[in-house]
Amino acid sequence: MSIRNDFPILQRQSRGQPLVYLDNAATTQKPQVVIDAISDYYQGYNANVHRAAHELAEQATAGMEETRDLVRAFINAQQSAEVIFTRGTTEAINLVANILSTHIQPGQDIVITELEHHSNIVPWQMLASRIGANLRAIAIHDSGDIDLDDAATKITNNCALVAFSHVSNGLGCINPAEQIISLAKSVGALTLIDGAQAALHLTVDVQTLDCDFYVFSGHKIFAPTGIGVLYGRYKLLEQLPPWQGGGEMIEHVTLEHSTYQAPPYKYEAGTPNIAGAIGLGAALRYLREIPRPDLVAQEDKLVASALSGLQQIPGVRLIGEPKKRSAVISFLLDQGHPADVGTLLDQQGVAVRTGHHCNMPLMQRLGVPGTVRASFSLYNNQDDVERLLKAVDKATTFL
Ligand code: PMP
Repeated sequence: MSIRNDFPILQRQSRGQPLVYLDNAATTQKPQVVIDAISDYYQGYNANVHRAAHELAEQATAGMEETRDLVRAFINAQQSAEVIFTRGTTEAINLVANILSTHIQPGQDIVITELEHHSNIVPWQMLASRIGANLRAIAIHDSGDIDLDDAATKITNNCALVAFSHVSNGLGCINPAEQIISLAKSVGALTLIDGAQAALHLTVDVQTLDCDFYVFSGHKIFAPTGIGVLYGRYKLLEQLPPWQGGGEMIEHVTLEHSTYQAPPYKYEAGTPNIAGAIGLGAALRYLREIPRPDLVAQEDKLVASALSGLQQIPGVRLIGEPKKRSAVISFLLDQGHPADVGTLLDQQGVAVRTGHHCNMPLMQRLGVPGTVRASFSLYNNQDDVERLLKAVDKATTFL
């Protein structure tokens, strides 16, 4: 109960009823401590970072750099210099796709999977067509699980990079990251993990995973929008070229030539999202106080209860039945387009997401127009599950 009180938005009504927020995979709500950290920055020490010689700038810089250290600890990176601030997962993947454009050779394979979010497909398509590389996708089973036999056939000596999601945003599958990374390492390919849906729900340890890049968005872990993280192995960051050019990322500039800072600043051109970084720091401090096993156990309990309740409603079809599931459930009603189901749930104060969830190739693979997606977080409770089930039950009678 006390956790719910930390999130002021959960006190509001939606369509005249207490809000049931089950769209956490799209974005999470923000605890008061995060909201306060952002307004404290603007009210108390707003300044640009790393530049001016005054107290405000020193405080703003310290706030941002403290967050870098908190992120380092959050994902167990070896050093804070491996943590680059981006606008989010999408920008982080685009950054990597750009800096690898000379590392990956024409004719080599970039391997993804059939269940990736568009932001882990389109940047690789763009890169592949720009440099003449091939984009290949590892197949999935009907359950949504990645087909590891197919992974072994796609990850060959010709593979330069494997980029895959840690947790699927469409189906909630927890993907076998260790196995995929070990296949990639056996052929000398680089690895990028899209952790957008994993950062909150799994314990991420980039050293144990031994991946080269790990990316996630702040707004899915209680921080504001517009701030995200790219983790990169320091050796690689040192060798690879910068992406955007501008202020902050340079060491020395003449009209003819520039030299660049060491990572992470080499990859952070221009004034960063300082308030966002400070908000991310507050979110990580907040999360540090909640034992991860408790958080996961609470989510698993709710997901199990929602799954068993949905299975008992005639006309409900679950989409994807992964071996290991995080906090996402996708389903359809036999009657009714997902968008209509979403509207009927919304009218009952239950916020879910409907559509393709930026997973068009996955939807095509599963032969569905889209799904209704309920996604859970640590502030959801059994009442939310009951309201969801009641609303779905009622929707079946309307359709
Ligand atoms: N990958 C996955 C798995 C996601 O769920 C999302 C967000 N829905 C993204 C990438 C993109 O994240 P963002 O829009 O925050 O950049």
